[in-house]
Amino acid sequence: MIKRIYKCLVPESWRISLRESVMRLAAPLYCGNRFICNCCKRSFRKFFPKGHIHRPNAQCPYCMSLERTRVLDLFLDRELGVYDKNGLKILHFAPEKALVKKLSKISGPGVEYVDADINPAFAGNVIDIESIPFEDDYFDLIVCSHVLGHVKDEAAAVDEMYRVIKPGGLALVMTLLSDREDTFEDPAIKTEEERLQNYGEYDLQRLHGLDFSSRLEKVGFSVEEIDYRKKFSRQFQLKHALGDGVREKIFKCTKPQPVISRPAT
Ligand SMILES: [Zn+2]
Repeated sequence: MIKRIYKCLVPESWRISLRESVMRLAAPLYCGNRFICNCCKRSFRKFFPKGHIHRPNAQCPYCMSLERTRVLDLFLDRELGVYDKNGLKILHFAPEKALVKKLSKISGPGVEYVDADINPAFAGNVIDIESIPFEDDYFDLIVCSHVLGHVKDEAAAVDEMYRVIKPGGLALVMTLLSDREDTFEDPAIKTEEERLQNYGEYDLQRLHGLDFSSRLEKVGFSVEEIDYRKKFSRQFQLKHALGDGVREKIFKCTKPQPVISRPAT
């Protein structure tokens, strides 16, 4: 009852900030050197657990990054050098606060950073990924982590991302992966309990399988599946709590440059 009244009276964005502030108060209790968060550069004796089936040492007590956030941060930084690049137009869906802090600080001529979510509690811009209000070929980079399992029309979302990326531009896509051959989705699965039981999370619309790359390739993306954790030693992976690869693989989707055919002479 009290929970319901609290939900009615306090906007969702405030509730999230409040929850995170309370969690952050506990950060000093976690001080130590066993783990390092590459997003906020702080070290801890342990991280918070996370998930319905608890994953120990998953969430940074200070910046709230998860295993996948830290892998993505390493990739953006060390592989793409995004934080030091000029002129990038970036669209960031379901933005992780730990990354928003870093991506929104990029400055310089031509830089544009758009954080986006369909729920105004989670981002500064309310944008439906199935209908992105930007012109064709606009963005250099789209970051889209753990979104496509949740949207109603995945094909429309992928189409839209492809449309607004510049030729040669990238989308970095992550999702919860199963070892099923084909992505599993069943319209008969409707309730939160059924979704949790069948898809592993209460708000998923589907559980992606080994065909995830081909689902992205259908619109024209060239897709590279990257387990970026493996670039690092086992010791580094454990120290930064980079997860087990189920949620942390990066699908690097490139929109090809158009082929210019020369007129016959
Ligand atoms: Zn952190």
